[in-house]
Amino acid sequence: MIGLTNKVVFITGASRGIGAAIANRFAAEGANVIFTYAKSTHRAKAQEEKLKTAGVKALAIQVDSADTLALQTAISTTVDQFGPIDILVNNAGIFPAGDFSEVTMSEFDETMNVHVKAVFVASQAVIKNMPEGGRIISIGSNVAEYAVTGNTIIYGMSKSALLGFTKGLARALGPKRITVNLVQPGPTDTDMNPADAPLADFLRSRMALPEYGTGDDIAGLVAFLASSEGSYITGSTITIDGGMNA
Ligand code: NDP
Repeated sequence: MIGLTNKVVFITGASRGIGAAIANRFAAEGANVIFTYAKSTHRAKAQEEKLKTAGVKALAIQVDSADTLALQTAISTTVDQFGPIDILVNNAGIFPAGDFSEVTMSEFDETMNVHVKAVFVASQAVIKNMPEGGRIISIGSNVAEYAVTGNTIIYGMSKSALLGFTKGLARALGPKRITVNLVQPGPTDTDMNPADAPLADFLRSRMALPEYGTGDDIAGLVAFLASSEGSYITGSTITIDGGMNA
């Protein structure tokens, strides 16, 4: 991809899964990658070392996305240490699922904090220093626009907030030549949604291409949007789901 060398990329939740694949892709393109994680310190440190083998700068920071002050501090520390953030990827996510009537307020708050509030907080923090040509890319979900089952209501509700956020922020930051886009994966083989999970065959049956995506599939799209080839795309929601929402 063109234009990613030496960029400073900040990714939330990249110790594993889609975030790790995005981090690997950016490092392979010559970008410096700073990423957060919540709990998996061992995996995050291993991921940090792996990224460094690509010859780029890398740093794993333990930050709960729900903790506003900690997230803001991680971003300001990153700017002090590595320079202004060129590319923000809001990826950290959780998957609350279950009967609507049994959702607790604690689950509700955690979901909104990680999927909605943290995206707002991180985006607001990075734009203080983000240079012209910057990118804000959030990872939503195809479930925001297609409720596959009735068991993922707060998940879909939280991810659908990103559609409005992306459109508004794209307009606000257009004059600064910063683009803002939303990537909505469908079933993607990670710890969150393994391709051999009990529900996997049902999900495949709903897809035009009846196969799970990979983290690399999502990473390729994110890298394209972040590259100079993606510079005219903003305010867009791109669903990458094997045609599940077709
Ligand atoms: P995983 O569960 O495999 O990985 C989640 C990542 O997010 C981990 O790095 C985890 O860190 C981090 N994380 C979770 N909670 C927090 C938190 N509170 N603060 C900071 N980091 C956190 O998930 P995926 O890779 O599958 O999902 C990535 C994104 O893609 C999510 O936003 C998800 O909603 C979205 N998505 C995934 C789909 C799928 O089928 N897999 C489909 C559609 C969307 P740690 O390792 O420390 O826990």
